[in-house]
Amino acid sequence: FGPALPGVVLPRPEAAAVRDGTFHDVHVSCVLPCLNEARNLRELLPLLRTRLDTLCRSWEIIVVDDGSTDETPELMARWSQVPGFRYLQLSRNFGKEAALSAGLEAADGDVVISMDADLQHSPELIDRMLARWSAGADMVYAVRSHRDDEPALKRLGSRLFYRLLSSHGRVDVPAHAGDFRLMDRRVVDALIALPERTRFMKGLYAWVGFKAEPLPYVPGDRAHGSSHFRPLQLGRLALDGLTAFTTWPLRMASLVGGLFATLSIAYGCYVVGEYLVKGNIVAGWTTIVAALLFFAGLNLISLGIVGEYVARIFDEVKGRPLYVVRSRRGTGTRSRRAGM
Ligand code: UDP
Ligand code: MG
Repeated sequence: FGPALPGVVLPRPEAAAVRDGTFHDVHVSCVLPCLNEARNLRELLPLLRTRLDTLCRSWEIIVVDDGSTDETPELMARWSQVPGFRYLQLSRNFGKEAALSAGLEAADGDVVISMDADLQHSPELIDRMLARWSAGADMVYAVRSHRDDEPALKRLGSRLFYRLLSSHGRVDVPAHAGDFRLMDRRVVDALIALPERTRFMKGLYAWVGFKAEPLPYVPGDRAHGSSHFRPLQLGRLALDGLTAFTTWPLRMASLVGGLFATLSIAYGCYVVGEYLVKGNIVAGWTTIVAALLFFAGLNLISLGIVGEYVARIFDEVKGRPLYVVRSRRGTGTRSRRAGM
């Protein structure tokens, strides 16, 4: 373990968890990003504790509070006195991707499981994830078996998004996979080492590589409350994903620009030729207006595409931290394991 080269992630010494087909001795971290999920947490935390208790000797559940305004802090003040429960309160709402990153950084398990707190991600699936990990997978991600429960427009949007995202070829982001996944310590270390601030996690999971295996599942219904991702938020997330993982829109803007420049040179030659042959022709007002509006629109679209990338560069250059922690409570259970 000499000095690390930039860009090379060396495994931590404790990363070498034994994968011998059992996982009783493995330290498992569960990361739950939460925004106003107190009612769901009340149901989920006991369920999760029972599940983890039967599966492994040492575990921790990290609730990352992404600026909740409900009774999550009071609830977690009680839960964080129970060994194994940790509470990380961010200073405001930083967004799910940042909350997830905060949880991954705080987790010290040999494997880390990230899941939503609304009971859509069933703790029942954790056994199968651990079994896959134990059999050699570095990352096990839950994939929706179908999206029939979603409105047709959302399904269409998500299909279009994955088509656009995968059109650059290098990193293959699996469609219909969310943030319900198990990651080996090495995967988590690689994710934490990524310096970027626009954290489109679905893309980053794919970018780090490793041996990833899909696990089909049917998400449950949200137990309480409603989704935080309405069309506007989904659109913003999609733009973040596209700008973080593709450059083809920029190339497309120059290609379309090039194509129309060539066409307009040809048309210019034609117009001049016509003038020379037929004399001064003034007709063509409709053509001029149509062309003017079309090219003005095209210009603005290209400028907008460039602007989207520049905005992300601006965010990266400022170098602000991804999130700010207001308070930390509770302790993990590695000590419990040591005492056994
Ligand atoms: N979440 C968060 N910060 C946010 C939005 C959501 O931590 O700004 C959490 C939320 O509490 C939940 C998870 O992210 O645990 C998934 O959110 P949600 O269920 O609203 O999304 P959906 O299931 O509709 O994709
Ligand atoms: Mg949900």
